[in-house]
Amino acid sequence: MRRPMVAGNWKMHGTRASVAELIKGLSDQALPSGVDVAVFPPSLFITQVIEGLEGKSIATGAQNSAVEPQQGALTGEVAPSQLVDAGCELVLIGHSERRQILGEQDSTLILKFAAAQACGLKPVFCVGETLEEREAGKTLEVVGRQLDSIIGQLGIKAFADAIIAYEPVWAIGTGLTATPQQAQDVHKAIREQLAAQDAEVAQNTRLLYGGSVKAANAAELFGMPDIDGGLIGGASLNADEFGAICRAAGN
Ligand code: PEP
Repeated sequence: MRRPMVAGNWKMHGTRASVAELIKGLSDQALPSGVDVAVFPPSLFITQVIEGLEGKSIATGAQNSAVEPQQGALTGEVAPSQLVDAGCELVLIGHSERRQILGEQDSTLILKFAAAQACGLKPVFCVGETLEEREAGKTLEVVGRQLDSIIGQLGIKAFADAIIAYEPVWAIGTGLTATPQQAQDVHKAIREQLAAQDAEVAQNTRLLYGGSVKAANAAELFGMPDIDGGLIGGASLNADEFGAICRAAGN
């Protein structure tokens, strides 16, 4: 039985003061015990968040980590081992903003994925198609290729200790959400792709949906059989809204 998960990607938002407020708001939420909850603050605030949420069952993740597992001469990057030392448990890999704006390629993401796992950091691997690709009928081909880049180099077992987030690029931060059926169709295809190589990995790997999820549409999305929760961007900056989304995953 897969445990539902709701993860909040704060992106490049926040100040020390607003993060303190968000921590307070999250601490006040009644979170369902059957749901894994995580937040991904900008790396600058990771320590503040981990300290502020001490004793709450909310895990902390990073939005990015380096291609090398250990600390060293790599200016501007944060090593997975340093994130683990700070108390992080998870890391986003391959978010579409990093793929598109920063030009992160599959070859880089494979290194980041492997480096994270080498340190015991669980990757949340993001995949998704652009609007142009969806309209050209290429959604499953694109998502399949993104997944295959990891499986081909690191093997299917890499997903035994990772999470996959399907985030259609056209739905991120746009207010446009995939319908529950559109999202389910892709999640089902992802699970079938995993199952073709390892039935147990396919059965156990959590597949999150991301793209303009809010309290009003969360329950319907999370009710689909292959959707195990959500990766939440904008709505995760509001503690009450995020708490409501977490509760929707618990129902
Ligand atoms: C995201 O950035 O991962 C995301 C899903 O953003 P939003 O919820 O704002 O669409």
